[in-house]
Amino acid sequence: MQLAAIIVSLVLTVVGVALLARAIGQFVRYFKLGQPVPAGSRTDNPYSRSVTLVREFLGHTRMNRWGIVGFAHWFVAVGFLTLPPTLAQAFGQLFQADWTLPVVGDWLPLEMYTEFIGVMTVLGIVVLMAIRLLNLPSRPGRKSRFAGSKAGQAYFVEYVILTIGLAIYVLRGLEGAIHHVEGYDASYFASYPLVLAFKGLSVSALQNLIYLVAMIKISTSFIWMIVVSLNTNMGVAWHRFLAFPNIWFKRESEGGTALGALQPMTSGGKPIDFTDPGDDDVFGVSQVEQFSWKGLLDFSTCTECGRCQSQCPAWNTGKPLSPKLLIMSLRDHAHAKAPYLLAGGGKTAEGEEKASEEQLAEVPAAALAEAERPLIGTAEAASDGGFAAGGVIDPDVLWSCTTCGACVEQCPVDIEHIDHIVDMRRYQVMIESAFPSEAGTMLKNLEKKGNPWGLAKKQRLEWLKEVEFEVPVVGQDIEDLTEVEYLYWVGCAGSLEDRAKKTTKAFAELLHIAGVKFAIMGGDEKCTGDSARRLGNEPLFQELGMENVMALNMAFGEELDDEGKVVPESAKPKSAKKIVATCPHCLNTIGNEYPQIGGDYEVIHHTQLLQHLVDEGKLIPVTPVEGIITYHDPCYLGRHNKIYTPPREIIASVPGLRNEEMHRHKERGFCCGAGGARMWMEERIGKRINNERVDEALSLNPDIISTACPFCLVMLTDSVNGKKAAADSGSAAGGKAKESIQVVDVAQLLLESVKTPVDPAGEPETENAPEPEPVK
Ligand code: SF4
Ligand code: SF4
Repeated sequence: MQLAAIIVSLVLTVVGVALLARAIGQFVRYFKLGQPVPAGSRTDNPYSRSVTLVREFLGHTRMNRWGIVGFAHWFVAVGFLTLPPTLAQAFGQLFQADWTLPVVGDWLPLEMYTEFIGVMTVLGIVVLMAIRLLNLPSRPGRKSRFAGSKAGQAYFVEYVILTIGLAIYVLRGLEGAIHHVEGYDASYFASYPLVLAFKGLSVSALQNLIYLVAMIKISTSFIWMIVVSLNTNMGVAWHRFLAFPNIWFKRESEGGTALGALQPMTSGGKPIDFTDPGDDDVFGVSQVEQFSWKGLLDFSTCTECGRCQSQCPAWNTGKPLSPKLLIMSLRDHAHAKAPYLLAGGGKTAEGEEKASEEQLAEVPAAALAEAERPLIGTAEAASDGGFAAGGVIDPDVLWSCTTCGACVEQCPVDIEHIDHIVDMRRYQVMIESAFPSEAGTMLKNLEKKGNPWGLAKKQRLEWLKEVEFEVPVVGQDIEDLTEVEYLYWVGCAGSLEDRAKKTTKAFAELLHIAGVKFAIMGGDEKCTGDSARRLGNEPLFQELGMENVMALNMAFGEELDDEGKVVPESAKPKSAKKIVATCPHCLNTIGNEYPQIGGDYEVIHHTQLLQHLVDEGKLIPVTPVEGIITYHDPCYLGRHNKIYTPPREIIASVPGLRNEEMHRHKERGFCCGAGGARMWMEERIGKRINNERVDEALSLNPDIISTACPFCLVMLTDSVNGKKAAADSGSAAGGKAKESIQVVDVAQLLLESVKTPVDPAGEPETENAPEPEPVK
């Protein structure tokens, strides 16, 4: 028995270690296939990165939002990292059954730790297995977060962990018996029942059992190593190693998620200068090797846990996009294509093969076939010749994304889905001009008129005729913004779209009532470029953004040179550059993205300013607004900019309202369907996202659905109106929509409550409330 155990264990160990070394080498060469990243962008602030890594691992910060699963996974992960001494002990036991580790082998704290973590690892993996089995995709279908995950690989990993955990436990019992433990011993506090069970066995029986179980433990460990080394795309196993670098190299060195700003376009690791692009610049991603090495690391790290998928509005409304399946497809494609790329293969911009026939002679046929697959394309060749067959990512997958950030927010290993999706969109739009045709109208309108609706710029100021107070306009009523506290950035929707204009007028009136000095731009401003950028049209975003930055800098009294750039000596503007926006997309673009093109402003959302004014007693909601209200979190306000509280505080300040939260709210809020330029595209597949969201709201039977974004306002209103019409016609699609139900911005609600005459002698409730924090 002993000899067989030694031979089996050592052979598997040698093979496992050799294959692991080979796999590590493969990974290093594989990551080198990716593009460089801008210097320092993934290594700056190493202290903060290290703290984030420790915090995310020890705190299991994302998984712990998912109840017991985080707790169970924590023990399994900690067991994997800290129980290797039990493996060393098992090797020694192969040669001498009562062998213990030198120095620490009999150290009580280590023995107790091993007992505790060993048992918790077993319990943890049992819980994880039960959760997987209860969520089998064959039962709840799309509702299962495991739908599409590689179940066989997951079962293999889980049974390996269970077997190793049980082997540790049994070995502890055998060790106690062979060491003649008498009575209860704290060193064996968990395995003591097994010590008792084995106690009556002869020494030789105990020895043989130890050889056998040690062999099982070692063999299982190294069979696992062999299997994962032969399958470098086995994310459910490799995340145990790759999650650490993936979290350390994450986009935000301060520990935040890859949300908010999109990244500037780079080629070869350098930002592209769109005013004078280089001849060999590569625009976007059309081949998997055009992702950065961090992108390739992202793909390989995916654990296939499906948390992203479970939150994705596209997936939840029957569309082909699942962020998990997208990442898995990119990973499997990259790994399958890697032998071809490592042999020097690849295509030039003209589609010519870079490698010679001799170079590719040794490349396996499967890798050569994989290299022929287009990154974006349909499974079958498009009848109009638009797409070649065998695409890795279907165009409908690519264009279904609303960039809502629900996937990024939940991913436990910090994968940056949106950046990858937008990089692929950039190539499709800029090089192939291949995107949903309806979005072309929006792009043309932006190019010609500077707004997505294609309306004349003079219409931006039309809403001023509908208010009964003065609103100073920069360049008309005031020279610059030195005399006011805030520039109110009204945005295209706020000035041109009828429903959003109600928010604009309500907010302006509230500022007027509160005595806040503000002004608006004169109508020459353009769309911020949010939709153009998220669609993938980076040059258009840059053009719009630079014009806006110039206009804003002028408005703030900066001195500009002939090219519109701020003269360095006048870097100190005449006034604080405070901007308030009613549109979260404007807030995000101006606050988070304009710094990339030279615009630095303090930007806050109107709900932040209104909450501040209520806190200061400058706005006093007195008139009750009766009814049940439910608040919809705009993705670009909530997840992308972490502003969840001010709208809720405003609602709470209005007497009479009862706020009922929808099941999906705050970090788990469900998109309205308009982000990522989806506002300008038809929604042809599955259920409309806005209808899904409104159905969730209607399940609370509200009188008011409130939000804080013009895009959300339009999408939710459209859905509610559609449901009312359906209800009128007797269709079941009408659901439970009350005839009186309203969809309003929180500013409208506040105005309704504030407008009642207030006792002029009334004192402010609170003074000197802290100023709201800008997004940057
Ligand atoms: S950003 Fe939103 S829509 Fe896009 S893949 Fe992620 S969850 Fe889905
Ligand atoms: S991308 Fe992240 S959240 Fe989605 S399945 Fe992979 S590891 Fe899980």
